[in-house]
Amino acid sequence: MIYFDNASTSPLSEAVKNAIAEGLETYGNPSSLHQIGRQTKALIESTRRQIAKDLNCLPAEVFFTSGATESLNTSIRAAVANSKSKKLYCSDLEHYAVLDTLDNLVEENQVERIAIPNDHNGVLSTDFLSVIGPDDTVVMMAHNNEIGNRNPIEKIASASQEIGFTFICDVVQTIAYESIDLKELEGIQSLAISSHKFNGPKGIGILFWRNPKPLKPLLFGGSQERGLRPGTENILGIIGLGTAWKDLQEERGNRKARVLDLRNNLKDKLLSISGLVLNGINSEDSHPGILNVSVPYSDRTSVLLFQLDLLGLCVSEGSACTSGSSQGSHVIKAMNKNREGRANIRLSFSHLNTIEEVEESVKILQSALEN
Ligand code: PLP
Repeated sequence: MIYFDNASTSPLSEAVKNAIAEGLETYGNPSSLHQIGRQTKALIESTRRQIAKDLNCLPAEVFFTSGATESLNTSIRAAVANSKSKKLYCSDLEHYAVLDTLDNLVEENQVERIAIPNDHNGVLSTDFLSVIGPDDTVVMMAHNNEIGNRNPIEKIASASQEIGFTFICDVVQTIAYESIDLKELEGIQSLAISSHKFNGPKGIGILFWRNPKPLKPLLFGGSQERGLRPGTENILGIIGLGTAWKDLQEERGNRKARVLDLRNNLKDKLLSISGLVLNGINSEDSHPGILNVSVPYSDRTSVLLFQLDLLGLCVSEGSACTSGSSQGSHVIKAMNKNREGRANIRLSFSHLNTIEEVEESVKILQSALEN
């Protein structure tokens, strides 16, 4: 089986599996005052300090959550609660963790959502920066998880410092290939990170929330995470996340070079398939591990995905959270791509894939399209 669905999730690394297996012995409740509890607490805090050091922020600004969905829900709701303005700018190409949260806030009459327009390649306009006010909010992902476009988060962060609006940034896909320096990007109020996108376990993530703005919790019921994310901590998740994070810091550069090599190779081979077009901008700063294509195909994309699966290639149409729905990709739709007689597929690969898999995947795709 060829696994080209790494933007949905990535396999656990051997180091993470070993760390979790060892961690099974670490059973103390970190809130307990005795030494068995304190050992667990020390483990959590050293992981937090390491992450804060690498992000160049304070340990008190790093919270462990159940993943990016929770981080985004928490930060968006906190930003809205803090803000005097209801105006929130966000494109239609964001992840559903953002879009559905905003739909909810609009329903509750807490937010007026203003769409950031995009062109047919998914490139976002930054014209809104000339009208945005100091109490408004912007939510933007650094790399789009379906088409791989790099969005101008540096520009938004520096405008946020100048104008004063709140900037919430989703770096779920980016962090595997780029380090983030929060001292340099001082205009970023909040980051969302998910461990399972870089070979860590699922159900654990990071929320960075910059001091001193108050963070309003989603959950209530304990003093864990300084009362801002209560509930007994996911120790095995934090151990796995910490190990995946440490390996990522050491290997990021090498992983990126390897993945870029796969990408260039795959892109050239894909373009030799008659009628295939690439979706997105596909520039140098695009996500190294994501290629999104439209192919001539008269049935629904899900039928093609099923065929590819039978032939040994795991890919998806877009966000894993919408697969199985017949709606199609909201990102491709928002780019106004003509979908008539075409199917779109996201191929997302990682440093664990090989050039042989690239070659085989193209053969499989060709064969599925011919039959
Ligand atoms: N944001 C982006 C860009 C994503 O790709 C994902 C996951 O696919 C999420 C947010 C949500 O992450 P999680 O499902 O780990 O909460």
